[in-house]
Amino acid sequence: MINVTKSYLPDKEKYQGYVDKIYDNCWLTNNGPIAQELEKRLREYLGVKHILLVSNGTVALQIAYRVLGLTGEVITTPFSFVATTSTLVWEGLKPRFADINKETLCLDPNNITEKINPNTSAILPVHVFGNACDIDKIQAIAKENNLKVVYDAAHTFDVSYKGKSILNYGDASTLSFHSTKLFHTIEGGAIIFNSEEHYNKAKKIINFGLSGPEDIEFLGINCKMNEFQAAMGLCVLDDLQKIKNGRKRAYDWYIENLQHMKTLEFQKGNEESTQNYAYFPVIFQSEEVLLKVKSELNNNGINPRRYFYPSLDTLNYLKHREYMPVSNDISKRILCLPMYDSLREEDITRICNIIKGVISHNSI
Ligand SMILES: *Cc1c(COP(=O)(O)O)cnc(C)c1O
Repeated sequence: MINVTKSYLPDKEKYQGYVDKIYDNCWLTNNGPIAQELEKRLREYLGVKHILLVSNGTVALQIAYRVLGLTGEVITTPFSFVATTSTLVWEGLKPRFADINKETLCLDPNNITEKINPNTSAILPVHVFGNACDIDKIQAIAKENNLKVVYDAAHTFDVSYKGKSILNYGDASTLSFHSTKLFHTIEGGAIIFNSEEHYNKAKKIINFGLSGPEDIEFLGINCKMNEFQAAMGLCVLDDLQKIKNGRKRAYDWYIENLQHMKTLEFQKGNEESTQNYAYFPVIFQSEEVLLKVKSELNNNGINPRRYFYPSLDTLNYLKHREYMPVSNDISKRILCLPMYDSLREEDITRICNIIKGVISHNSI
């Protein structure tokens, strides 16, 4: 069975070493020494100033909205994982969609301005599949209209934009460290704040709003990362170069096999940013071809995923509906092929041959 991704498991003895330390310390959570070490290592590795570890990438978004004081409407992309939209609704904010660019698959800055009104407080773009948004234009629109920007950077671990970490743009960026992501802590996430003040506030919010054992400063919640999660993060971080090399190899094999296929389209990469090979999305000519490819792959024990389908503007719990034609069109035709560091060349060849078989059969 080959799935769209395979969780990376580091050396068991190394992890066991950290578990032994946790037992010795008898400090399991609440900003323990291992979480502190991971926070420090990530700060250096990613080149960011204020990174806060949390229990998952979904609450990372929710805490960011709270700390930045978002209200009313937030302009966002309909082409993402459901958490991008659901967190807004969960926090009582109203998602206002702006359609994506059909080549980059990111929020198209040209569609943002028309959605701004006096109730708008922020823009929430996603660097989808690790592809940097048009950051310069988005920041300029935000500045001109006095809006906050939160980047859902769940897919952009270890990506730089114009020579510095992509996580340094906007008021905040959030990461997911779910076990299916490029870097993981089993479940986990982080928020990168531009301002130290926001970081300090968030640090209290994720621990019930406490600023001392008997001092409840404001309303808070519990979403701390524990020591077992942080230990997994330290182990995976040590192996990151190996993980990235394996993914790059897989990416290159896919490209070699598929690039000459005239009816396939690929996401257009932002030239100002580096790639992290987190996903391998392909866009087919029609949903019909996609469904045939998917079922043929499934018959061969291969499970690609329809990331991202359906387009989020069609969610049943939205009160305000706005149809996004580009996002809906792409959502129906895009499939993420298996992508992980240990994927073998022969498996990729097999996957690509199945795709080619379906497409050539379909065009007869
Ligand atoms: C994975 C993901 C999230 C949610 O992260 P979790 O750690 O699974 O809660 C949010 N946004 C995007 C774009 C994601 O891919």
